[in-house]
Amino acid sequence: MAASSIAALDQTSVEQLKGVGPRLAERLQRLGVLTVQDLLFHLPLRYQDRTRLRPLDTLVAGEEVLVEGWISDARIAQGRRRSLKVRLEDGRGALLLRFFHFARAQVEAMQPGRPLRCFGEVRQGPQMLEIVHPELLAAETDEAAGSGHSTLTPIYPATEGLQQASLRTLTEQALERLQRDPAALVDWVPDALTAPLRLPALADALLLLHRPPADAGPELVQALLERTHPAFLRLAFDEMVAHQLALRRLRRARRDQRAPVLMGDDAWRGRLRAALPFALTGAQERVIAEIAADLRQPHPMTRLLLGDVGSGKTIVAAMAILQAVEAGFQVAFMAPTELLGEQHRQSLCGWLEPLGIELAWLAGRHAGAERTAILERIGSGAARVVVGTHALFQAEVRFAELGLAIIDEQHRFGVHQRLQLRDKGDRSGRLPHQLIMTATPIPRSLAMSIYGDLDLSELDELPPGRQPVKTVALPDSRRDEVIERVQASCIGGRQAYWVCTLVEESEALQAQAAEATAADLQARLPDLRIGLVHGRLKAQERVPVMAAFKAGELDLLVATTVIEVGVDVPKASLMIIENPERLGLAQLHQLRGRVGRGAEESACVLLYQAPLTRAARERLDILRRESSGFRIAEADLRMRGAGEVLGTRQAGSIQFRLADPMRDSALAQAARRSADELLARWPENVEPLVRRWLGQRDDYGQV
Ligand code: ADP
Ligand code: MG
Repeated sequence: MAASSIAALDQTSVEQLKGVGPRLAERLQRLGVLTVQDLLFHLPLRYQDRTRLRPLDTLVAGEEVLVEGWISDARIAQGRRRSLKVRLEDGRGALLLRFFHFARAQVEAMQPGRPLRCFGEVRQGPQMLEIVHPELLAAETDEAAGSGHSTLTPIYPATEGLQQASLRTLTEQALERLQRDPAALVDWVPDALTAPLRLPALADALLLLHRPPADAGPELVQALLERTHPAFLRLAFDEMVAHQLALRRLRRARRDQRAPVLMGDDAWRGRLRAALPFALTGAQERVIAEIAADLRQPHPMTRLLLGDVGSGKTIVAAMAILQAVEAGFQVAFMAPTELLGEQHRQSLCGWLEPLGIELAWLAGRHAGAERTAILERIGSGAARVVVGTHALFQAEVRFAELGLAIIDEQHRFGVHQRLQLRDKGDRSGRLPHQLIMTATPIPRSLAMSIYGDLDLSELDELPPGRQPVKTVALPDSRRDEVIERVQASCIGGRQAYWVCTLVEESEALQAQAAEATAADLQARLPDLRIGLVHGRLKAQERVPVMAAFKAGELDLLVATTVIEVGVDVPKASLMIIENPERLGLAQLHQLRGRVGRGAEESACVLLYQAPLTRAARERLDILRRESSGFRIAEADLRMRGAGEVLGTRQAGSIQFRLADPMRDSALAQAARRSADELLARWPENVEPLVRRWLGQRDDYGQV
């Protein structure tokens, strides 16, 4: 046998496979697939289930299904876009098949009474469930009732110019090599770790996931589709172990780094405490002490502060800031948006200026002489605290003596940006301490699986006197009533938010919708003072509006989701959210957190577009019932998975391919223990295992 065939698969380039030229290799590389091993670990995201015929009365929007029935009606609808509508029935229910591109022969073939079998994704149409452009298959009416094809079709993560079919032939070749020579793929996770968990051998698991057996019974099919099959769990386990090992490596490396010791003499902290109009909660005191102890260490702190909306993270940050400033160092405070940055600046100014501490504000819009002047104050060390947006990451921002970096709403920043900021340490090469604050409340165990390299502090107590926000969901047909309610409430001296949302990510469209809504509301509520903020407004336009709202000079603030994070106007006590069904639970909770911050009873109206899908109804129900951000986050994680909720996809930070530490929480715990054991007993396996799962990602090698 040729030497190349027994080469380890992690050393075998995909270019050795049949049909892979430079162009295909380049596309595979985009998926992180360089070697035959990478291809084996490029696992199906999901499967198309063509093994079961689904009765038409059991369909749910969002599923891909194989259905069969007879045509009861076929017609061309003129509407906004001409389409061919074919009604399918099976004696239990009905489904609409819709075609936008069709030939005359196709129309003629759709004769009422004709049996038809098809496959496609069900969605909610205007009148009924429908499949747009289903894949048409010949009806096999003579086959045993209820059974279709007998295979699950794997669907791989793909990229432009790389089809499922070619991924299937390539994985086929990789699997052949694996079967021919099992020793070419080393299992870096010893049996001693997987056997007690009853997880199958690596090669068997890979084979099963890539090629589910043709005679798969219904239980196996279901287990694969739901990702509960032991083969799937085996790989999810390996991935979590690799992830934990990478995190431990990061943490260890940090112990070798130096940071300034921020002792502080408590002078300013004492004065701020004395000036506060409220007493700190027990949770705030505890977290302030945890951070204070870290800052006194000669190694950089990397601490994640978890705290629900309104739990009072800002004052905790202020105490850390003062400790650093007392010790003679500068602090960078980073906010995800200008709006939020402005607000932090205001809160901090109120606390720091009476102490005579200079605060600078740097946003993307600062340019020319103004910008130069700000940079000068930062560089000379005159500005002790700098609040800013992403602008703070830029290379020309140089600090005299940066001792602490605080990042608010961490999930909006990438790991890269965190690293850039960290590199702005002091002259002697010491790194700043880092405090990362997030209001995306995640269960502690999940946080440990995802951010295992960070220390955690939790604000698990709200300041006293907060009342849950009374939440109702109403269909848009009751909009007039809601507008009357806003009127009555504002006339009675309360303030309200009206939040406009759009599915489109475009800020321009969002802004347009908000403008139209504001104009409409002003026309219908001529007595109210209405303000408008959205992402397209310049700060000079936005700041006065926010200030006026805060000062009680506006009754109603129409806004886009720019107000989602951090905005703090304690007197506002009513919020209307349009189209809440389009937002995630965590985002809705954040938005709703803008009210209920004062002593007054607050309310939130979720003004949705009927009809709601079942999932949307469930989500809105959770929001109506629950006020705890942690429980809402848990529900959200269960429904949508960690990647979506935490936004890690966008942030470019840690992301799992298969594992979902929330869903597989027991396995996640086992993975943490196994990582320790692997480090202790098989240290030589650590590198290759981490490389297998995280090899192509550069975020990980660094600290
Ligand atoms: P978040 O954690 O959402 O950032 P903030 O720091 O904005 O919360 O605090 C929310 C509001 O609660 C602010 O108006 C703040 O001044 C107030 N606050 C913070 N701590 C306390 C406390 N211990 N008692 C009363 N009010 C507090
Ligand atoms: Mg905040």
